[in-house]
Amino acid sequence: AHDLLTVTGLSVKLRTASGPATVVDDVSLAVAPGRILGIAGESGSGKTMTGMTLVGLPPAGATVTGSIRLDGRELTTLSEPGWAAVRGGQIAMVFQDPSSSLHPMLTMGRQLTDHMRRHLGLSRKAATTRSAELLDLVRLPDPKGALRLYPHQFSGGMRQRVAIAVALAAEPRVLIADEPTTALDVTVQAGIINLLDELRHDTGMSILLVTHDLGVISALADEIAVFYGGRIVESGTAAQVLGGARHPYTRGLLEALPRLSTETRRDGRGFVPIPGVPPTPGSLPAGCAFHPRCAHAAPACQESRPELLPLAEPPAWHRLACHVDPWRP
Ligand code: SF4
Repeated sequence: AHDLLTVTGLSVKLRTASGPATVVDDVSLAVAPGRILGIAGESGSGKTMTGMTLVGLPPAGATVTGSIRLDGRELTTLSEPGWAAVRGGQIAMVFQDPSSSLHPMLTMGRQLTDHMRRHLGLSRKAATTRSAELLDLVRLPDPKGALRLYPHQFSGGMRQRVAIAVALAAEPRVLIADEPTTALDVTVQAGIINLLDELRHDTGMSILLVTHDLGVISALADEIAVFYGGRIVESGTAAQVLGGARHPYTRGLLEALPRLSTETRRDGRGFVPIPGVPPTPGSLPAGCAFHPRCAHAAPACQESRPELLPLAEPPAWHRLACHVDPWRP
């Protein structure tokens, strides 16, 4: 299938107290209809900033360059009213804290119908019917009854389902889900993971799944882009990135992944966190931003920044940005 959302050479620069900071640096991504692209990385890696920029909400004063195309239409040149129509209409977003996208003082019925009347121009009656359908689509028990409830009357997991229903109200083509399961406990997480998987099959919507949790990404993503220091350091299909990781940082994330079945990880054995801390945007190490934490660093790693280059022929491009490539076959 052709790509629905295509991002080319996207950069976001901020002015900070300590000078200009490039928080997203030359990022290119593409996602096809019904596919899930996992965007992995620690906090400060630029993954959330990328998500916010894709809904036209970069931080105030940011300079955005590069291209964001939705079905061929360039979005970076849109005015704020143009973005407002796209945001929530064609590209919607859900967050770690579902409360941030729900109005505390309005019933769920009111929030859903308002959203649909605004974006789809439905009558109140049609919107009410559709609202109950949406709550059913996100597997909420008693959808009709739920329309009369306020956000605080739902549990955390149910509130995230409701926030997803609001995001789906205008039938978006792309859903950007930023840490959608991070605040939830493990069993509730599994429910939301299944729900996202069902929704992309049922609706054909594309999902950008932004999370530090490679476990969630491995359960859902078709393709993966690993972010570090504002750049993509490795990308490819889920099988390539999870099964044949080539970047030392991706390897580190995989080693740090706690597996429920491996009890030894609780006492530290077998569970290997990446040493050091991620860099702060604006004070990135020279050369490869990962070099202070990398066990494979060579002299070249401190001098020049490795480019993200394809490891094989298209279409299933596995890309890597590493001078050393320690796991080259
Ligand atoms: Fe490590 Fe060098 Fe590769 Fe960076 S370029 S990940 S420092 S080996």
